Amino acid sequence: MMGIRVIVAGANGRMGREVVKMLSQHEHLQLVGAVSRSEAGKDVGETLGLGRYGLSFTSSVAEVLNQTKADVLVDFTTPHVVAENMELAIQAGVRPVVGTSGLPEKEIERLSSLCQNKGIGAIIAPNFAIGAVLMMIFAKQAAKYMPHVEIIESHHDRKLDAPSGTAVKTAEMIVQTREEMKQGHPEEKEILDGARGAYYQGFRIHSVRLPGLVAHQEVLFGGNGQLLTLRHDSLNRESFMPGVKLAIEKVIELDKLVYGLENILD
Ligand code: NAD
Repeated sequence: MMGIRVIVAGANGRMGREVVKMLSQHEHLQLVGAVSRSEAGKDVGETLGLGRYGLSFTSSVAEVLNQTKADVLVDFTTPHVVAENMELAIQAGVRPVVGTSGLPEKEIERLSSLCQNKGIGAIIAPNFAIGAVLMMIFAKQAAKYMPHVEIIESHHDRKLDAPSGTAVKTAEMIVQTREEMKQGHPEEKEILDGARGAYYQGFRIHSVRLPGLVAHQEVLFGGNGQLLTLRHDSLNRESFMPGVKLAIEKVIELDKLVYGLENILD
């Protein structure tokens, strides 16, 4: 396989660090740029405890795109900057692989048109854990036969957005097969605001935030006399890395934006 030159945005964050480590374990993946505003100028490897790299952190995506020839930009930053980072990359002919959550549907559509105009590939995946993607696929299958469903997602309390990108993506996949209807008692009343969770096309999504959690989701299907539970747990951030590696390899072959890892799994 040809070498792929990769920039990581958010390289000093919890996910970014894992990506930098994963890249160092694969000869065909080469880290050529790492963005961290707080660590700009410092050696990437030394800062992340991986030994001297001879490559320093850059303070912005614009700067690193200007200075470096790259094939792929991996972005694990924040919902506020991800769209701008993606746009800069696409304009520079660098393919984005994005895990940052919180991108609104309208923005995804706009970035998709941008990719189309440029004839360039991009991948946005709300969840890079392959087990979680399988959970979504199974949820879509089950919803056709068991349309009474609720999603409960649980994450660490540093997470900025709710519900999680995975929960939203699961809901979107569920409605592709679920007969549309409003669940629960027609006269149901919340004693405390938000008690029944977020409303999505007739069913509910609940978000739990606690220290100690990483990324977990249950999809509950109820029927007369039966309950089906699909559950996935990411126990650490390594769980996302096979999916990130796969996306880096696949995005090179794409000429449009693909949303969701399930669309690149063979
Ligand atoms: P984090 O807060 O540890 O890291 C975010 C990093 O982005 C930080 O290092 C921060 O300094 C950096 N950053 C902030 N603004 C920036 C800017 N303007 N330019 C460049 N870098 C900037 O967060 P995290 O836990 O690593 O998560 C990052 C994102 O990834 C979140 O949106 C999270 O929900 C998402 N996530 C996605 C998956 C997935 O599988 N898709 C898995 C885990 C987390």
